Amino acid sequence: TFWPNRLSKTLTVPETTLYDNLTITAKKYPNKAAITYYGQTFTYEQLVTEADSLAGYLEKELGVKKGEKVLLLMQNSPQYMISFFALLRVQAAVVPINPMSTTDDLAFYVRDCNIKQALAGQELHHKLTPLKKDTSLERIIVATYSEYTLAENALGEIPPEVIAPVNVPDDDIEWKDALSAKQTPSPYKGKSEDVAVIPYTSGTTGLPKGCIHTNRTVQANATGAYHWMNVTPDAVALATLPFFHVTGLVHSLLTPITAGGTIVLLTRWDRDYAAKAIDKYGCSHWINISTMLIDFLSNPNLANYDLSSLQAIGGGGAPLPEAVGEQLYERTGLRYIEGYGLSETISHTHFNPPDRPKLQCLGIPSFDVDARVIDPATGEVLGIDEEGELIVNGPQVFKGYYNREEDNRDSHIQVDGKEFFRTGDIVKMDEEGYFFIVDRLKRMINAAGYKVWPTEVESILYKHPAVQQACVVRAPDEKRGETVKAFVVLNDDAIGKVTEDEIIEWSKEQMAAYKYPRILEFTDSFPTTSSGKVLWRELQKKTADQLQ
Ligand code: AMP
Repeated sequence: TFWPNRLSKTLTVPETTLYDNLTITAKKYPNKAAITYYGQTFTYEQLVTEADSLAGYLEKELGVKKGEKVLLLMQNSPQYMISFFALLRVQAAVVPINPMSTTDDLAFYVRDCNIKQALAGQELHHKLTPLKKDTSLERIIVATYSEYTLAENALGEIPPEVIAPVNVPDDDIEWKDALSAKQTPSPYKGKSEDVAVIPYTSGTTGLPKGCIHTNRTVQANATGAYHWMNVTPDAVALATLPFFHVTGLVHSLLTPITAGGTIVLLTRWDRDYAAKAIDKYGCSHWINISTMLIDFLSNPNLANYDLSSLQAIGGGGAPLPEAVGEQLYERTGLRYIEGYGLSETISHTHFNPPDRPKLQCLGIPSFDVDARVIDPATGEVLGIDEEGELIVNGPQVFKGYYNREEDNRDSHIQVDGKEFFRTGDIVKMDEEGYFFIVDRLKRMINAAGYKVWPTEVESILYKHPAVQQACVVRAPDEKRGETVKAFVVLNDDAIGKVTEDEIIEWSKEQMAAYKYPRILEFTDSFPTTSSGKVLWRELQKKTADQLQ
């Protein structure tokens, strides 16, 4: 019995660190599979040994110090997990970055955190290499995936980049050299209040900001998720969400490790492989994002697989359409357990109780979370069924944005003598205490769970010589939920000489795949305020009207 009453509101957050979670489990189950990776198994003991060897190298050869920020740019892999725990072992702060980032994006993160060292996947490190010239970045450890022999053609589905041979530049460090050095790190002294991870988000305003999370804030959710979803040592968790994002990190990586379960790891989303893996490895838990589930359920081959091992499926990051929830129930007899949260709260602040979930609902506040709905203009606390901004106080709320005093001031509010984080989401609460999202105050676009900030896309569009003005809004999209749409006013001399498609193609080259506008519309001028500020809400509304 893991949790006597899942609706109970309090939970003591253990004082142990995230690295302790791993070693505690490894002591209990040294020979148990921590990871199953395309047929290759890593036991808990192996995971700790590899992480400690890498930690020894980081500390003794590279001089990584307590509190130093180290960039982690990798797709999901055993190397990601080894790197993550190695960095925690030396009390460094992990800065996990979306593998789709461009070199320009990476330059921003490197400068913002004054990064000197990075760990990167073999297919990604080339994006960091140019930064060694004109930023603080000095060294890159390159994770070559073939270091670990993969079971011969395991399930026949290994992504090509995992097995491709690579040449590591001479001035970078090869994974095997770092690990074969067999350096022993100093005795572990990690504390609950140490900074553990700094995920980036653009919050409510648009510029990327690092969210400072300690072992304790992350532990609150890793432990909370473990009780909420009843993740036992028998759990076999299918890990399909990227680990750089808070939901993947907490729910697909840390929670199963804390519980002593096994992680069935995918480098890239593949609906056939996911179904095969559930069937073959008997996956019991799967945390995903709605777009993945939609793709999974629409697979014409799905009937060929036995999914009966599944006990709990849930996720968050974007709303799950009601029809998809029903389809899941018909196929598996399981109700989708939706949750809600943000990078600032290292995944969930809300979740649906598994025994009483509601559809298209964020759920109830999770353990020890005080969630209120306020009038965003006056700060007045609102009542049942009234729409307003969601504010939260709880053990998983971050310690602030790194080096962003103004944002830290603006994103917090005092209510009843307590400090609350302002989420920028517009919600309402029903009479049973369940929350529903209705809108967003922030301009963010939620494209299949990837968050896109219009100002960032606009600033890139302005670099195009034909663009005089750009305004980016969200447009509904059948597959991705929402997609990026740009309105563009052309320079006079470009009118008639450039097409909408040409600018879309150009933007594709300039930004990460999830960010570039899929729809682009030329317009003569933008609606503006008397001070000249573009009234983006009007263009947003125009987009919604056009689609009706
Ligand atoms: P991120 O920081 O990338 O995790 O993005 C957080 C944002 O994702 C929130 O502010 C919401 O706008 C959105 N979000 C998270 N969970 C849900 C959900 N269950 N339904 C709708 N939107 C969600």
